[in-house]
Amino acid sequence: MVILICDAFDKSLPDRLKKFGEVTEDVARLPEAEVALVRSKTKCTAEWIAGAPKLKMIIRGGVGLDNIDQPAAKARGIEVKNTPAASSVAVAELAFALMLAVPNRLIEAHNALKEGKFLKKEIKRTELYQKTLGLVGVGRIASEVAKRAAAFGMRVLAYDPYVKRSDVAILVPSLKELLRQADYLSLHVPLNDETKNMINKDAIAGMKDGVVIVNTGRGKCILEADLAEALKSGKVAAYATDVWYSDPPDPSSPLLSAPNVLMTPHIGASSKENLLRIGNEVVTLLEERSKK
Ligand code: NAD
Repeated sequence: MVILICDAFDKSLPDRLKKFGEVTEDVARLPEAEVALVRSKTKCTAEWIAGAPKLKMIIRGGVGLDNIDQPAAKARGIEVKNTPAASSVAVAELAFALMLAVPNRLIEAHNALKEGKFLKKEIKRTELYQKTLGLVGVGRIASEVAKRAAAFGMRVLAYDPYVKRSDVAILVPSLKELLRQADYLSLHVPLNDETKNMINKDAIAGMKDGVVIVNTGRGKCILEADLAEALKSGKVAAYATDVWYSDPPDPSSPLLSAPNVLMTPHIGASSKENLLRIGNEVVTLLEERSKK
């Protein structure tokens, strides 16, 4: 069996997978592959799937399955698996790092020092302590963010219509209510028809003035043009994001030139430790498959 590693995994993975078959990272061998390992870079479209006639299983190292055409895979009887548990801490730590960087003005202070400016008097920080964090979605990653926020003395609210109770956040009954109360908003929903563009002009109008939005979920949950306008007007004080409409963002994305945007290049899951955990989950999935 040919196992094709399409995207970036831990460098130990090819050796660990040799016991299951021939391992290759040569994507030109897609037509021979029985198992394909992808992260978010490879887009498993219907066309991509058609180019893989022997494919039996796609393993998505990570959580979101929005880069995989699941109906097309199902129609061909291809199993689609992900590694949902591995990434929670890695993404939560990045969300928290982004949330801390904004009120502490870390980037501005750092860049000023690099330019020889010592802005001790000019830079005024604010604290997360006693601020309200609003979590959009309260699944695995958001729950890890909630624990860290509680340790910082934040009040943690969450809106998630599919969750009945949470040990780490106070559930509110509507997105509107969450937006009304939050000083910081952090997005942790999957991308689907319901969540695409959920943060748009109308949603922003219902937010507190000067809200800070952190996005380690999916870029398409936010309507970029509406958010860019709100950043320009100051309605939204800052947007800290790891995720984009596309990877990499289109140079014309209005967020690249909007004020007070803090950006990382979709590295939420890319901690060294997480890549090892993802590798462990991949090995377990292939062990289970070989027992069938
Ligand atoms: P999860 O499934 O544990 O949690 C998602 C939560 O969102 C669920 O509790 C679900 O009920 C809720 N939800 C669904 N639709 C909703 C809606 N319309 N409104 C409010 N809540 C809704 O998933 P997770 O492991 O916490 O991951 C969340 C998302 O984070 C993933 O789907 C993925 O898009 C993103 N992610 C990003 C990175 C990164 O590198 N930045 C890495 C991993 C995951």
